[in-house]
Amino acid sequence: MPTGVGSPPVGHLPPDRDGATAFQVSLDIRAGVFHFEGFGRRIVHDEDATLGAITGSPPAADPNAALSSLSGIGAVRAERLAALGLRTVEDLMRHRPLRWERQVDLDTIEDAKATAAADPKAVLVLHGEIERARAVRTGRPRFEAVLSDESGTAQLRWFGGVWLQNKIVPGLRVRIEGKATMQGRTMILTNPGWSVHDEAATTDPAAPLRPVYPATEGIPPRFLHDRIRSLINKVVPAMVDPLPDATRQRWNLLTLQQAIRQLHQPADEAEIETARRRLAFDELLALQLVVARRRYGIRTAKPATELSTNDALDTDLQALLPFALTGAQARAIGDIRQDLGRPVPMHRLLQGDVGSGKTAVALAALLQCLRHGLPAAFMAPTELLAEQHHRTLTSLLSDRFTVHLCTGSRSVAERRAAADAAAAGHADLFVGTQALLSEHLGLQDAGLVVVDEQHRFGVRQRALLRRAEVRTPHLLVMTATPIPRSLALTHYGDLDVSILDELPPGRTPIRTVAMHANKMDAALARVGERVQEGEQAYIVVPAIEPGERGDPNLEELVPRLQQGPLADVPFGVVHGRLDQVTRDDTMAAFREGNLRVLVATTVIEVGVDVPNASLMVILGADRFGLAQLHQLRGRVGRGAAASTCVLVADPATEDGQARIDAVVGTTDGFVIAEEDLRLRGPGEVVGERQSGLARLQFAHLPGDEALLEQSREEAATRIGADPELTAPEHAGLAQLAQRFDTPAEALEGG
Ligand code: ADP
Ligand code: MG
Repeated sequence: MPTGVGSPPVGHLPPDRDGATAFQVSLDIRAGVFHFEGFGRRIVHDEDATLGAITGSPPAADPNAALSSLSGIGAVRAERLAALGLRTVEDLMRHRPLRWERQVDLDTIEDAKATAAADPKAVLVLHGEIERARAVRTGRPRFEAVLSDESGTAQLRWFGGVWLQNKIVPGLRVRIEGKATMQGRTMILTNPGWSVHDEAATTDPAAPLRPVYPATEGIPPRFLHDRIRSLINKVVPAMVDPLPDATRQRWNLLTLQQAIRQLHQPADEAEIETARRRLAFDELLALQLVVARRRYGIRTAKPATELSTNDALDTDLQALLPFALTGAQARAIGDIRQDLGRPVPMHRLLQGDVGSGKTAVALAALLQCLRHGLPAAFMAPTELLAEQHHRTLTSLLSDRFTVHLCTGSRSVAERRAAADAAAAGHADLFVGTQALLSEHLGLQDAGLVVVDEQHRFGVRQRALLRRAEVRTPHLLVMTATPIPRSLALTHYGDLDVSILDELPPGRTPIRTVAMHANKMDAALARVGERVQEGEQAYIVVPAIEPGERGDPNLEELVPRLQQGPLADVPFGVVHGRLDQVTRDDTMAAFREGNLRVLVATTVIEVGVDVPNASLMVILGADRFGLAQLHQLRGRVGRGAAASTCVLVADPATEDGQARIDAVVGTTDGFVIAEEDLRLRGPGEVVGERQSGLARLQFAHLPGDEALLEQSREEAATRIGADPELTAPEHAGLAQLAQRFDTPAEALEGG
């Protein structure tokens, strides 16, 4: 019995034989060896043979090879794939299908072509997705579309069907029925019947699950499908699992190989989920490795000055504060005191809802620094806030320390004086905006930097503080926007966290109500009435000037208020375009009660503290973000009086309605934060589309918190043992961190 061994190309099987002859053929196709065994009569074509068994392995493909090195992927397509984050073969293997479906065995477009070629009268039934469509008005007006499935494409055209352009749109899944003509390899169906694809009619619970990949401009779904299917057997054996065995066992994870196979060729839903969990772990671990690495970098940066604490400090602080600390404030101060007493720079995030009393905690920290004779800095996100803090801190500390104000709009002379003071090394307090960072204030000598409302204080700014030559300042970052734990662990994972989860006593909860936009006049009238009763109020609008969307705006509202509900009421207007002096004066007049109402844009979002204000009316409330609404509402409810927040809107979108519902439903900032994350997704919440979180394919936040905790624990263990990940068993992890390309910039907070 002849046995062909060697490397004959496919199609050159051994010569024909008569009779039923068993045969064995081994083929060496490139690097892969296939072994055929079978039984046939006349082998003319490989299909004529009954192949009993095919064993062997296909040629391996390099997972790291660039997709552009594959045949059929030119520069244009490579670029489009890159836009999807697909650069290498491994990227393709890790690409997440959009969904999986169980389809009955429909004829593919390719099969239909054969049918049409053989019998032009055959009525074909095709299922697929509209890839392109256009109305053609020149010549005989018609509507043309391209139908595609995973096997190929068909041209569709409807003469006189221009009206179809609003019905048959790209991305639509349709069922097409009609006769076809072939022009070369192109199949054309003229005036076919069509209907929107009925999922149920083509779903068969017994059929295997097939992945469906997301279609993108220039990348038809079948392209990814075909590529992945043809590559998977060659690539998977060559893939190296980045996770050490111990890690996989510890967290009960599939191997990378299993996960990739189950992702693209799942037997059932359970396999999809275990594959997803493994690949999600990879993503989260990559992020956590970067975070753990950064924490390690902070600990080993230039040391900070040890600012030890003693009892005198407590007395000192209590003497300054007109109230007793809440338990939460005392705990946070305890955390901070411990940090400050160590030579390792503090790197702490203080989270506390609006009104929870963060300033007092900051004051404790500042005092500890100043008492050691070292300058300290307090940074606020806006000039308004910087000025307010400057005022508060001056009144408390100016008998012992000099408190400087450093904002962008201060005069050069004033700023120079402050810089001189800093250079002279006085134990002075510098309060300001980010101008504090950019000006050469000699902040490297500061013992402590406190950053209030850190939204705009990202990883990069934090790193700026660590470029000090001799000492690194201790850093306290404060935020009133509660951060969901998942984000705290990733985006802010390099910071230790203290939480103020207790409001100072004597607050009456804020009542929040929603009103339809057509009741706006009633809401504004109410402001007039409440003010007559001695209260103060805010009216917030989304815009300064009228715009396309017709949002409530200052320009239209102010005259209306003057002529109507606030005719006899002294009120002020503040917005971001006012010059500082006017704004300051207005704010001061409101604080002192000379102005009874403040009409404003979101410039009052953070920090503004006027305890007598007990009513807020937010117009066009659906225009604001969830966190923003919560922040705005936090401007009332700061005194003993019962406060009310009225959200006036006629939401144009579901999300707008959901935001209003959330704010009406709770005053708990953490609940709001979770809802915000759910509505907007992590990329938007951290204010940076490109953040590592925004690019997660498999991990869901919220949802995968448990997995996140596990990945964090794993990263801590690995980085703890091998900070640079240089050990041989960590080579895969180092690559993993790199694959997801999540350096500091990627986690940047905008
Ligand atoms: P936030 O956390 O929003 O920055 P603030 O520090 O501005 O809050 O404090 C809000 C208000 O609560 C301020 O008027 C402050 O004086 C007051 N406050 C802070 N802590 C306490 C406390 N322990 N007891 C009573 N009032 C307090
Ligand atoms: Mg504050």
